[in-house]
Amino acid sequence: MLNIIIFGKPGSGKGTQASLIKDNYNLVHISTGDVFRKNTSQGTDLGKVAVQFMSKGELVPDEITISMLKEEIKSFMPCNGFIFDGFPRTIIQAESLDDLLKSMELNIDMVVALDVENNKLIERLLNRGKTSGRSDDKSEEKINKRLEEYDKKTKPLIDFYKNQKKFISINGVGDLNDVTTRLISIIDSKIS
Ligand code: ADP
Repeated sequence: MLNIIIFGKPGSGKGTQASLIKDNYNLVHISTGDVFRKNTSQGTDLGKVAVQFMSKGELVPDEITISMLKEEIKSFMPCNGFIFDGFPRTIIQAESLDDLLKSMELNIDMVVALDVENNKLIERLLNRGKTSGRSDDKSEEKINKRLEEYDKKTKPLIDFYKNQKKFISINGVGDLNDVTTRLISIIDSKIS
């Protein structure tokens, strides 16, 4: 199995790139943001809770996110591997993911970060907000809140995965296909 985490700040292109590369490696793409949004639009109990946090640009609490993610993983097993997009976003989530994978005798193979500077991210997200229908992309205030949440809760994961010698960062700016090429070449170099 191959398990990859695609890492980066909001708007860094995680979802786009994960969709583009998943078929290359026959991986299941799990986007926590997409799962929460699907639940919200279907009006499930999970969706009703998640939207209260998402709409403010805050992270959904760990307990809720972790149990949702575990169910997702189980529903796709057995498979060739996963590409996790938007998870883990806190140290607690990362530790839970390690524990869960370990219980199945699996592990994370690598964490690939898409590096993009904040000004560019804000520009991208506001642009996406014009067509995505995502309320969290429409206001600069909510975008800033998401970037703050990243700095406070998600950034510590860089050291967490550096300590495990799994962290790789690539330039996430430039033509979409160029970023995909960079991503595939770094993944290939690690698995060959
Ligand atoms: P982006 O990366 O552009 O912020 P996502 O679709 O990944 O977009 O996430 C949207 C929102 O969903 C987040 O702002 C947060 O509220 C919630 N969310 C997604 N993943 C997680 C997670 N792992 N932990 C907590 N909340 C999450």
